[in-house]
Amino acid sequence: MDTATLAAGFTPIPKRIGRLLELAYNLWWSWHPEATALYQEIDAELWEEIYHNPVRFLREVRQVDLDKVAQSAEFLRLYHKIMADFDAYQVFDRTWFAQTYPDLADRRIAYFSAEFGLHESLPIYSGGLGILSGDHIKEASDLGLPLIGVGFLYPQGYFKQVITAEGNQEAIYQKVRFSEVPALPAFDANGKEVVVSVGLPGRRVYAKVWRIQVGNVSLFLMDTDIHPNNPNDRELSARLYGGDQEMRLAQEMVLGIGGVRALRRLGHIPAIYHMNEGHSAFMVLERMREYVQAGSSFDEAAARVKATSVFTTHTPVPAGHDAFPFPMMEKFFAGFWEQLGISKEQFLELARHDQNWGPTFSMTVLGLRLAAKRNGVSKLHGEVSRRMWHWLWPERKPEQAPISYVTNGIHTESWLAPELKAAFDDEMGPDWVLNIDDAQMWQAIDRISDEKLWRLRNMVRARMLNFVRMRIRHRLARMGADQGQLDTTFQLLNNNALTIGFARRFATYKRGTLLFTDVERLKRIIHTTGRPVQFIFAGKAHPRDEPGKALIREIYHRSFEAGLAGHIVFVEDYDINVGRHLVSGVDVWLNTPRRPYEASGTSGQKAGTNGIPNLSISDGWWPEAYDGANGWVIGTDEEPDDHRDAGYLYDLLEKEVVPRFYNRNEQGIPEGWVAMMRQSIKTVAPQFSMSRMLKEYSRELYVPLLQNE
Ligand SMILES: *Cc1c(COP(=O)(O)O)cnc(C)c1O
Repeated sequence: MDTATLAAGFTPIPKRIGRLLELAYNLWWSWHPEATALYQEIDAELWEEIYHNPVRFLREVRQVDLDKVAQSAEFLRLYHKIMADFDAYQVFDRTWFAQTYPDLADRRIAYFSAEFGLHESLPIYSGGLGILSGDHIKEASDLGLPLIGVGFLYPQGYFKQVITAEGNQEAIYQKVRFSEVPALPAFDANGKEVVVSVGLPGRRVYAKVWRIQVGNVSLFLMDTDIHPNNPNDRELSARLYGGDQEMRLAQEMVLGIGGVRALRRLGHIPAIYHMNEGHSAFMVLERMREYVQAGSSFDEAAARVKATSVFTTHTPVPAGHDAFPFPMMEKFFAGFWEQLGISKEQFLELARHDQNWGPTFSMTVLGLRLAAKRNGVSKLHGEVSRRMWHWLWPERKPEQAPISYVTNGIHTESWLAPELKAAFDDEMGPDWVLNIDDAQMWQAIDRISDEKLWRLRNMVRARMLNFVRMRIRHRLARMGADQGQLDTTFQLLNNNALTIGFARRFATYKRGTLLFTDVERLKRIIHTTGRPVQFIFAGKAHPRDEPGKALIREIYHRSFEAGLAGHIVFVEDYDINVGRHLVSGVDVWLNTPRRPYEASGTSGQKAGTNGIPNLSISDGWWPEAYDGANGWVIGTDEEPDDHRDAGYLYDLLEKEVVPRFYNRNEQGIPEGWVAMMRQSIKTVAPQFSMSRMLKEYSRELYVPLLQNE
């Protein structure tokens, strides 16, 4: 990186700590709490104000504050340690991939996703899919996978959620200034900025390519908000999942087709291509076009593309599978089929999916047909996906449809409470992060005393509750509350009460209000003398999902109802920052989806890794993890029934969860609870880590294709 050019517009940084700028431009800092602490150390207030964004921080920090830390021996010691760790991290040949597959290290895997959830300061993700992609990229860097990412740099990102005094969700879009995020223009071999174009009806749309560095992995993100695009096309990449169906189609053409063109301009010929969900599936069309233009027949081109493609499907919810009406496809792809050497009819048949409103071109069908490796994201979701898509392989029995599964996992260091990380460092040695998927290693948790684990639990819960109070205080201040009202937030919530968390997207299938099915029974649970219970809710509804927004309104109003007030809170603007606090701070992680619509779910994995037992319907990843001692299953595998499932939930709360939490020994420690915390860590941390997941993707999906090639 050319630091001199880069330094323009920043507060001049004293030479002794000059690499702070370089560090700001590599998201490696985001999963190393000591690196975050470095910025915090300079000006903690500013760090909060600019929402943990080191690039903005270095633009706004005062010269005196930089000069001051540059004179501090303690700061310099921390600075040099972090820079040494950062340098050591970038030595590539000691990674798992380099050691396991030394002959494949020069290949590249292109990973396409419509969203990447890397950090709260980069709002280019909406929910689970994005978080998974972000974690995938970080772990690929940790394990040394030769991966490059492709996606969008949305100038307005996903919305910020504001809850009005009436409990309505409002969506606020803030313009992201690219000079204030860790993105730099991407250059081609001749040092020219990379701009690619894709043909749309009657025009071309251009996209500028940006690069974000995530450890050792580069992420290339496109932006269409540039000259000479017309105003509509400039809006194309403005927001995540905005606009109508035509805009969505155009967006996906830029992602799939433009993404392949961007790689070429950057000089990359990846050996394999991973479509993370159908949004990017048009990439297979562009890649086939390349082969046909170079002289292959269509069939040869299709075979070559298929042999080098991986497709992952992420949801059994039908609306989660993009499909475009044939007439719309004809309009947008006019002329494309000729370049593939096939007829319009053949082209449309490639991804035909008949819906009750007519034939559509389905992105999932396209991806499934033109990828040699296909997978769902949990064991159960694999089964459900085979049932959903087996008609694509009429010669096979439904249960033998060629769709496998790799259960999702989490990037451990991104989600673990720093207090626990320090305890794990003490007990297992700092290199434990190199062996996260090793279940044997995690037995070491047994050597941490009950007393210490419980002390940490109380510390992290208290820190999280303070964060929640602060959030509520900010909201009240925004709404014009007076000092007296603001001060009441200090009294809100109880640092020692059993605290149950529910944070997720408010899609109706997740049943965010199941807890309120029998409010009188809930009130009795909450108010048992000496055994208080409190609930923390958070989550966004899609801006056009009215039923989802109604769920938020209900929870908000419940939080003021007599008998519930003070025990139910809704935290605004669920994002990575809120998520990190909640999945490490609450005592129980609640999950109530209608089975089998939760394909995997990863928030429960984050909680479990932090020693927080899951209280969940037997859906997604949970049936694979639940062992009778690491949490609870709500109900049975019967068909979902809201009333009955709520009854099961209350039964568990009354008979299992609350008693276990409040049953204390002479030292005040709930031994049964702490045992469950241990079991949660030991069973969830290794198996549901991104480390295990990426080794499985490598072994079962990537490497077999690389070796066939
Ligand atoms: C982990 C996470 C998700 C996904 O969690 P689910 O279990 O699928 O609900 C969504 N949003 C944020 C901010 C997260 O951190």
